[in-house]
Amino acid sequence: MANDLISIIIPCYNEEEMLPIFYKEISAISQQMPSVGFEWLFVNDGSKDDTLKIVKGLSEQDEHVRFLSFSRNFGKEAALYAGLQHAKGNYIAVMDADLQDPPALLPAMYGLIRTGEYDCIGTKRVDRNGEPPIRSFFAKQFYRLINHISDTEIVDGARDFRLMTRQMVDAVLEITEYNRFSKGIFSWVGFHTKYLEFENKERIAGKTTWSFWGLFKYSLDGIVAFSDAPLGIASFIGFGTFLLAVLAAIFFAIRTLVFGNATSGWTSLIVIILGMGGLQLLCLGILGKYLSKTFMETKRRPLYILKETDRDTRAELQSKE
Ligand code: UDP
Ligand code: MG
Repeated sequence: MANDLISIIIPCYNEEEMLPIFYKEISAISQQMPSVGFEWLFVNDGSKDDTLKIVKGLSEQDEHVRFLSFSRNFGKEAALYAGLQHAKGNYIAVMDADLQDPPALLPAMYGLIRTGEYDCIGTKRVDRNGEPPIRSFFAKQFYRLINHISDTEIVDGARDFRLMTRQMVDAVLEITEYNRFSKGIFSWVGFHTKYLEFENKERIAGKTTWSFWGLFKYSLDGIVAFSDAPLGIASFIGFGTFLLAVLAAIFFAIRTLVFGNATSGWTSLIVIILGMGGLQLLCLGILGKYLSKTFMETKRRPLYILKETDRDTRAELQSKE
């Protein structure tokens, strides 16, 4: 039987500090698993620091290291997609460069997926130690909300770190949508996933690119990509206010009949006008959000643009020889 080849996709954005530490860690892991071949596929997502230089250096000294480099920063989701498209392994994993996805789990993940019982071995944080409490709170609320309004299950605490079969990756690749919310996509394609649990790790060096506001927008994108429930809110609010208006009409009619007509009510009028105006804008905003996503999808722009890959570098090296 031919040996298994595991491709590991590592999206990197400004990770110059992390890469040497990361490489040391993964070399140790590949030594622990001599029976499998590894392909370390670094995707440089338009880093502004020396990430590309370091990755190039690694690929020159280690034939198991490959790389793709984007023409600019396209985001982690695009980097993952590019990696999945170019990976050659029969098992494929995605892993962050900051060691928050512990490579030490790989042997266990590989052992499980090799049994053939599962199509995917995912990982899940059992806690959020080291994270600001307010961020954890909003994250929890987000998972509650999206699982309530979407048919696709989004597992709380699940990381993108997962080992998949070639069959599952091919399914993921068929989803070519522009607004990629990987947590949803991995779940949407189905297949049998088993989650391994581990304790949250803090980033070892460098810093996260996620601000609170960035995460908030990301969660909204996730909701828009995997649920149309917000669109229903508009009709719901519309119907509710219509019922209120009917009740108010009856109330005012009776009051006029009983107490006569008084020209008061300026305050209530202003409140109603402002309230209605606000609700209308809210509903328009929700519609606009879906419209803008549709707009981006219909353009069918590529998800990323490659500037350089290890193949270019290898060809260059060979021509020099
Ligand atoms: N990343 C990327 N493109 C980006 C932002 C991040 O490829 O635009 C990579 C980053 O290098 C890291 C992974 O995605 O390997 C996770 O990023 P980060 O640690 O900043 O996110 P967090 O762990 O805080 O969710
Ligand atoms: Mg991280």
